[in-house]
Amino acid sequence: MGSPQHRPSPVHDQIVPSKRTRVRRKPDRGHYDRETIYRILDQAVFGHVGLVADGLPDVTPMVIARRGDELLLHGSAHSRLIRLLATGCDLCVAVTHVDGLIVSRSLFDSSLNYRSVAVFGQARPLTTPGDKLDALRAIVEHVLPGRWGEARPPSDRELRATAVVSVPLAEASAKVRSGPPQDSKADLGLGVWAGELPLRVMALPPVADPLLADEIPVPVSVTRSGFGRPTQGNPPALNHLLRQGGQRQ
Ligand SMILES: Cc1cc2nc3c(=O)[nH]c(=O)nc-3n(C[C@H](O)[C@H](O)[C@H](O)COP(=O)(O)OP(=O)(O)OC[C@H]3O[C@@H](n4cnc5c(N)ncnc54)[C@H](O)[C@@H]3O)c2cc1C
Repeated sequence: MGSPQHRPSPVHDQIVPSKRTRVRRKPDRGHYDRETIYRILDQAVFGHVGLVADGLPDVTPMVIARRGDELLLHGSAHSRLIRLLATGCDLCVAVTHVDGLIVSRSLFDSSLNYRSVAVFGQARPLTTPGDKLDALRAIVEHVLPGRWGEARPPSDRELRATAVVSVPLAEASAKVRSGPPQDSKADLGLGVWAGELPLRVMALPPVADPLLADEIPVPVSVTRSGFGRPTQGNPPALNHLLRQGGQRQ
């Protein structure tokens, strides 16, 4: 899914790898250019936020949205997690897309095709109502572009009940695996099927709220949501399947 906040970045715009973000295991799969990292972030609705709470590891899924060179997270102002984040503690956000199951001739070489990002840093709370409103707009527009203008905006009370934090995209890495199985030469002659089972997140036809008045049409943000659309990034076989799905509807 694309985000309207996407800031096209030149390919050479690299985030300098730090000691902890340099990919050591399969380093050829590591990427540090903002274009790759931002594309992966922009296609994700959520990530997993990791931190140490009371000396123990803690990982929680949260909606994410990139705005320029920052990642926005939000939650209830009373949430334990968001209050911890607002202290400026060290955190890591992991974002993952699984693109396919790699079915290899050997179980050892079985794998996944994926695109993932790890972001490290500290969050900064957004405190003024204006900053919070702008950030919430960016989050809503990231998840469902166009929705901000369709739904009722947050009231002052709702804005006070919502906390928003910003994480700078200054220390981050991407790791990407694509392509067919990589079986060892010795296994290539085995009579065992090998290949990829592509996987995608796709929207199904929208389901109206049972309490919705009949005359209200499905809004543009929903009909035009980017989920499951054939894109240049999809393999031809998937585009074919998506077209078939579209014809059935
Ligand atoms: C969906 C999915 C499932 C996976 N399943 C497994 C599994 O079952 N077993 C397994 O061993 N590995 C799995 N991996 C790969 C795993 O994410 C690590 O890359 C791998 O285990 C090497 O870890 P490491 O700490 O030794 O890497 P290192 O190369 O030592 O990590 C150093 C730094 O590289 C960066 N980095 C490493 N991995 C990633 C990543 N995936 N995305 C972004 N940045 C990264 C981080 O900044 C990290 O701090 C999976 C990956 C994905 C996306």
